[in-house]
Amino acid sequence: MDSIQKGSSALQVDLHPPLDRRDALVESERCFFCHDAPCLTACPTDIDIPLFIRQIRSDNPQSAARTIFSENILGGMCARVCPTETLCEQACVRQDEGAPVRIGLLQRYATDHFMESGEHPVERSEDTGKKVAVVGAGPAGMSCAHRLASHGHQVTLFDAKEKPGGLNEFGIASYKSPQNFAQREVEFVLDIGGIYLQLGVRVGADISIQKLSDEYQAVFFAAGLGDVNALSIPGIELKGVRDAVAFIEELRQCEDYEKMKVGERVAVIGGGMTAIDAAVQAKMLGAREVTVLYRGGQEKMKASVFEQELAQKHGVKLSFGVSPEAVVGDSGKVMGIQIKRDMDGKSEREELVVDSLLVAIGQRLHSELGEQLKQQGLDLSAGKINIDSDGRCVGSHFWAGGDCANGGEDLTVTAVQQGKVAAESIHAALTAQES
Ligand SMILES: Cc1cc2nc3c(=O)[nH]c(=O)nc-3n(C[C@H](O)[C@H](O)[C@H](O)COP(=O)(O)OP(=O)(O)OC[C@H]3O[C@@H](n4cnc5c(N)ncnc54)[C@H](O)[C@@H]3O)c2cc1C
Ligand code: SF4
Repeated sequence: MDSIQKGSSALQVDLHPPLDRRDALVESERCFFCHDAPCLTACPTDIDIPLFIRQIRSDNPQSAARTIFSENILGGMCARVCPTETLCEQACVRQDEGAPVRIGLLQRYATDHFMESGEHPVERSEDTGKKVAVVGAGPAGMSCAHRLASHGHQVTLFDAKEKPGGLNEFGIASYKSPQNFAQREVEFVLDIGGIYLQLGVRVGADISIQKLSDEYQAVFFAAGLGDVNALSIPGIELKGVRDAVAFIEELRQCEDYEKMKVGERVAVIGGGMTAIDAAVQAKMLGAREVTVLYRGGQEKMKASVFEQELAQKHGVKLSFGVSPEAVVGDSGKVMGIQIKRDMDGKSEREELVVDSLLVAIGQRLHSELGEQLKQQGLDLSAGKINIDSDGRCVGSHFWAGGDCANGGEDLTVTAVQQGKVAAESIHAALTAQES
């Protein structure tokens, strides 16, 4: 990230510009092709990283992409959004020299090359006639649907929204996935055949879970986290206070950034990726001052060091040890926020002047869906569905994965992996029914 683009046009500039052929060949030469490669162990989807880098080095990006897609059909999106600095690249043995092999960019090079070719990497097995319902067309649902389709099953993918993709489409920062990549990737996944989209259908409201259970031989829940945690402080209802996920969703679907109003002085409450993404995008939209207020210390922030540095490079201020106590306003509109700052065992109170406040303190399972799942006998804890290592819901005949289930890390790549693992378990169960 040598130069930082300013202004709303930066929202459509790639955060990690792709490598060209020459750069990819040079970068692939840096790999030691380690035996028991630590990068492979660190990849949540088990991609054979040394193998695909070797294939790039042999100037065969098409085969490299097949290696990637065989484990992660959303390898294109993961190459754009994975926090590689805490996953494969952190594990890379060349990290000790301060310059790990740029695995994410090499993955992007291979997958982009393949997707441009118009081919599909996986052949669908003969139709089994078995029908599976997948609830949620985000990364977990798409990954599960694709793997099931590859085994010849017919998959109906239900999504409450009118557009598929889940947070790839509605949440991921624009500068990580510009040029409508999320929708291009959905089309790529569907190219396998045997996957039928039912959009604008909210399971639990428009169609009951019982009906799915009756009509399909298996059901996989990948509904993500539809509710946001509320911040209960005085003044939170004032105009100008918004949930950060809704702000990002509006931004992702906006066709003219000039029309998006964000305010001059913005505060974002939270310490995760959503808080950082909201802050950076608010700055790109033209906010003069943007401050992230986080109650813990810097080391506790869920957003990675890379994300924190990215925010700072864009002029976002990060403020630690800060708890919001009340939103203050005038004529129903936010004017400031009262905060308590804890430092060196002492607490100080102050008021920050803001005209926009974004709240990003976490999401949870949609409460209505959660209640219905409990009625179906599913076991929930910490607002998520409990699953076993195969993605089976504890205490029921359903499967679940992605953000709505416990056991992942609320990342795109872990959602993809959980979808894939559950698909294999469903396939095994459907095959066992036959014998
Ligand atoms: C703002 C933001 C930025 C992020 N940035 C990154 C990043 O840079 N890198 C990264 O790795 N991760 C990032 N994440 C996390 C990542 O997006 C999620 O972990 C991932 O999308 C989870 O996938 P999923 O399929 O479980 O759920 P989702 O992507 O949330 O998809 C769930 C789908 O289910 C649908 N649905 C919900 N309820 C129902 C219902 N009752 N009936 C039918 N459909 C339903 C929803 O409409 C949605 O399409 C980010 C998250 C947020 C919020
Ligand atoms: S750890 Fe680094 S050097 Fe070793 S195989 Fe993986 S990418 Fe190559």
